[in-house]
Amino acid sequence: MTINIFASQVLEKKMLTPSVVNLKFSLPEDFDFKPGQYLSIARITAEGKKLRTPYSIATIPGNGFGEFCIRVVNIGRSSEYLSKLEKGDEIELFGPLGKFTIPDSSKNKDLVFISAGTGISAFISMIPALLKSGFKKKMILIKGFKNEDDVLYEKEFTELSKKYKNFKFYNVLSQPKNNFENKGYVQDFIGKYTSKDFQGDFYICGLKEMIFGVVSKLKSQGIAEDRIFFEKYD
Ligand SMILES: Cc1cc2nc3c(=O)[nH]c(=O)nc-3n(C[C@H](O)[C@H](O)[C@H](O)COP(=O)(O)OP(=O)(O)OC[C@H]3O[C@@H](n4cnc5c(N)ncnc54)[C@H](O)[C@@H]3O)c2cc1C
Repeated sequence: MTINIFASQVLEKKMLTPSVVNLKFSLPEDFDFKPGQYLSIARITAEGKKLRTPYSIATIPGNGFGEFCIRVVNIGRSSEYLSKLEKGDEIELFGPLGKFTIPDSSKNKDLVFISAGTGISAFISMIPALLKSGFKKKMILIKGFKNEDDVLYEKEFTELSKKYKNFKFYNVLSQPKNNFENKGYVQDFIGKYTSKDFQGDFYICGLKEMIFGVVSKLKSQGIAEDRIFFEKYD
């Protein structure tokens, strides 16, 4: 796998929620990556400096294109710049980068994936790729959002759960607008969806506050560190 700087073009842009933008972009023909890896996008700052910001590749390998799923942080610099890109715009990418991928040692274990917000971007690559590759153990995804309007990739994961009986997913909403069964934070629902003697591995992706919350919960339940893998976005 070669790590390169390359030119890419925005192929499509759409809003997934009022604050999350999806960018579809071109990839070189020979581009290869592992699900869970990311690319850095370059932009020129007002001071004329080149700044690179990492974003998970939110597609499975082999599509011939890539996607990003980016939360537009209002006060933010890169995310705001990216949200203003339009179809046809050129971007400079660097990668693939990152070690948040599924090692062979996890591939014959039950797996739990936990995300909050756009942390789901890594899993919309890892989960379908793993299922497509013939993964036969159980897989659970617990994805957290603020409210009903923020939920990402519902259609995609519903289709996967219908097609693959070993995959199930659950939404957790911290501030639901309506009555919602799983109200709270993702770490509060791990016990609901995993048995006490669960022997598999955990994959976590999102902002550090959520990661710390989940990791400390898992450790308090006696889960060894070598069964916990995470990607911190901030
Ligand atoms: C390996 C890696 C992969 C990443 N992949 C993604 C991705 O797929 N999608 C994505 O939206 N972000 C992703 N991020 C975060 C991204 O790189 C930027 O940090 C984020 O877009 C904010 O950058 P900014 O320049 O707009 O704002 P900054 O000025 O750098 O940050 C402003 C504030 O935004 C917060 N913040 C950062 N990321 C998020 C987020 N996702 N949701 C809410 N608040 C956030 C930070 O904690 C900070 O307080 C990833 C980060 C890493 C390290």
